[in-house]
Amino acid sequence: MTFSSHPSAPRPVITVQGLLPYESLGITDAHNHLWIEPVPGADPSSPVLNQFHLILKELVEYRDKGGETILDCQPEGCGRDGNQLVALSKASKVNLIACTGFHRKKYYPQNHWLWGEGAQKICDFFCSELEQGLFETLKTPTPVKAGFIKIALESTWANCPHAALEGAASAAFKSKVLMEVHTEKGALAEKACIYFMDLGLLPNQLVLCHMDKRPDIGLHKELARLGILLEYDTFYRQKYNPSTNLWPLIEQMVNAGFSDRVALATDMAETELYHYIGGGAGLASLPGEIQDQLNKIGFPEPARKQMLGGNIARRLAGIN
Ligand SMILES: [Zn+2]
Repeated sequence: MTFSSHPSAPRPVITVQGLLPYESLGITDAHNHLWIEPVPGADPSSPVLNQFHLILKELVEYRDKGGETILDCQPEGCGRDGNQLVALSKASKVNLIACTGFHRKKYYPQNHWLWGEGAQKICDFFCSELEQGLFETLKTPTPVKAGFIKIALESTWANCPHAALEGAASAAFKSKVLMEVHTEKGALAEKACIYFMDLGLLPNQLVLCHMDKRPDIGLHKELARLGILLEYDTFYRQKYNPSTNLWPLIEQMVNAGFSDRVALATDMAETELYHYIGGGAGLASLPGEIQDQLNKIGFPEPARKQMLGGNIARRLAGIN
C-alpha cells in the first residue's frame, strides 16, 4: 500500500449528539461502558448497566471534575442502546461517542447473526452503523452514528471470530475510522497489529486496549514506535497491582518519550467500579484522583493532556 505524503486533514469527531472538532473534546476517557442492557442467552456473568439515574449522576460528577468526553465501548447485539446514550449525553452534557463492531462471543446469545455471517456482510453492517446510524436508532427522528469501531480478541487466535475480524478490518479500511481492539490481558497484541496492518490499516487507526495487564515495557515501546496507541485502565483493579504495574509503566512510557502513545481510561464494565452503583471509584476518578496523581508525579502538562484525551482525540480525527 502507499502512504500519502500529505497529512490528512482532521475529521470532525462523531458524538451521539453530532459532530465536534477534535480540539474541543477535553479530558476524554478512552474506554468505558455507560449502558449495557441485559442480553437474553448471553453468559450469565455478563455485566448489566441500566440504572439511568445513577449512571447520569456519575456522568454529572465526571463533568463537574472537568471530564468532557467518553468513548462507549459496547457494540450492537451485546447490550448497547444508542438511544440511552443520547439521553445520558443530553442530560449530563458529557460528549459520548458510540461504537459499532463486536465484543467477545460470550456476551451474545449463541445464535447471534454475527457469528454465522461472512466478512462482507459484517463489513456492510459496520459501515451502515458508521454512515447511517446505530441499528437501534434508525427508527428515531435523529439516528446516531457510530464514531469508531470496537472489536474484541479472544485469548487465542484460533478462538477469534475470523470473518468478523476481516469484516471489521474492511470497514475500518474503507471508512478510515479508529478501531479499538480489546485484548485478553494483552494477548495477541503483536499478532493483531500485523494482521490489521497487512490488511491496510494505518498504525494510527489502532488502539490496543487493556495493555497494562501485560506490563512488558519492551513490548509497549515497540508498539509505540510503530505508532499504535496503547490504552491503560487497571487503576482500580487491585488484582493487577496498579501501583507496581500500571503507574511505573506510565512513568517509563513518558520518560521514553511515548506520552503520545498512551490513552488512559477506567473501563467500568464491571459495575462494582461505578461509585453510585457498586461503591467503586466511579467515572469521575479519571478527571479526579487519576489526574491528581499524574500531577503529583510531576508529568509535564503536555504529557498529561495527551494521555487524558489529546491522543485519543487526534486518533478519532484521523491524524497522528
Ligand atoms: Zn471494555
